[in-house]
Amino acid sequence: MKILCIGRNYAAHAAELGNDRPDKPMVFMKPGSAILPNNKPFYYPEFSKDIHYEVELVVKISKNGRHVEPAFAMDYVESIGLGLDLTARDLQQICKEKGHPWEIAKAFDNSAPLSADFHPPEAFADLNDIEFSLEKNGQEVQHGHSRNMIFPLTELICYTSQFFRMQKGDLLFTGTPEGVGALQVGDELVGYLYTKDGKKEMFRTRIK
Ligand code: ZN
Repeated sequence: MKILCIGRNYAAHAAELGNDRPDKPMVFMKPGSAILPNNKPFYYPEFSKDIHYEVELVVKISKNGRHVEPAFAMDYVESIGLGLDLTARDLQQICKEKGHPWEIAKAFDNSAPLSADFHPPEAFADLNDIEFSLEKNGQEVQHGHSRNMIFPLTELICYTSQFFRMQKGDLLFTGTPEGVGALQVGDELVGYLYTKDGKKEMFRTRIK
């Protein structure tokens, strides 16, 4: 199992970090050891003083395949969940400045808190317009609509599968909307996904 992640997939988020709008999906990966199951606390690591939250729609991949054609891309969507792409922004800044790989800033242990529940495609009116949000300490800090993705799900699956074959059970983190920010010990993050049946709490992560 692998975790594919997309950076800068929402224009407003790319802008808030001072990054250009990419002309191709920006792909990176996290190892399976990055997953933090729902309701487990996140322990603030000593290697960073600036861990940021990024809430993201997460696609669970339904089957194996490579070089996926656009017409078949949605067949690879088994279900949709919600996760956090926790980022050590201070380390990431150093990696970017030096042109180094950024795994230590993005792929460290427990950097991917993940919802226990995943909802099938039928749970949503439109897979290209899924709404989701994040609350920090009871206040909404991020609110996303997947229609604002620079590269929609179809394109993410087609593009990434040219390089990395899709395997059943893989996870695809699809990028974060604007509103990212720093975490402190004591914070509580609650993620929500809006299905046809209404707003669902997907995860609740405490920072310790
Ligand atoms: Zn991200």
